[in-house]
Amino acid sequence: MIVAIDGPAGAGKSTVARRLAERLGYRYLDTGAMYRALTWLAMTRDIDLGAGEKLGALADENPIALDEDGRVWIDDTDVTAAIRKSRIDRVVPVVARHPAVRAIMRARQRELAEVGDAVIEGRDIGTVVCPGADVKVYLNAERQTRAERRLAERPEIGADALATDLRLRDQSDAERMMPADDAIQIDTTELDVEDVVSRIEQLVRERQPA
Ligand code: C5P
Repeated sequence: MIVAIDGPAGAGKSTVARRLAERLGYRYLDTGAMYRALTWLAMTRDIDLGAGEKLGALADENPIALDEDGRVWIDDTDVTAAIRKSRIDRVVPVVARHPAVRAIMRARQRELAEVGDAVIEGRDIGTVVCPGADVKVYLNAERQTRAERRLAERPEIGADALATDLRLRDQSDAERMMPADDAIQIDTTELDVEDVVSRIEQLVRERQPA
């Protein structure tokens, strides 16, 4: 079974997807981490973030590994912590919007999806990467709530800068952030993580073959 969880930053995707994968005993794939890792490598090598073809080639030559402990690797480097910095948050969409980059990433994500049961989180999983996913969920929350959640993860930034970052990222990601027609939409503004996880788990159980 493939469970696709899409939605904007701060909607609760990572926490929910990780918990759900644990409960179901499925793999957890964080596709945002893949775009983040590529962005980290491009910045480290001083590659122009507007050079789509070059970035596509960089992605092709440097496959990203997501290990079972949730660590993220690229170019033999553990970038798990480095990719969560605000300097990466701000520019990932610039890298992620290039068609050459997306083609490589999506092919790799489909390969990973084919290995077996997985909870996959991102922006375009239910629409483009795995349109045949067994369960599709689109998580959303009010922007103020999403900003507060991000602030808890990035306390060093300050509320105003963070709200601006989030708004700009929403704008850049907008064209890839459409819920699939057959996605179940859940507004997490007033919900606990466990409630959201239980709702999705219920959907998965209903669709699991007897
Ligand atoms: O989910 P996360 O916030 O880590 O994603 C980081 C960025 O990667 C997003 O803002 C978006 O630009 C990009 N992304 C994407 N497609 C995905 C996952 C993430 O374009 N499937």
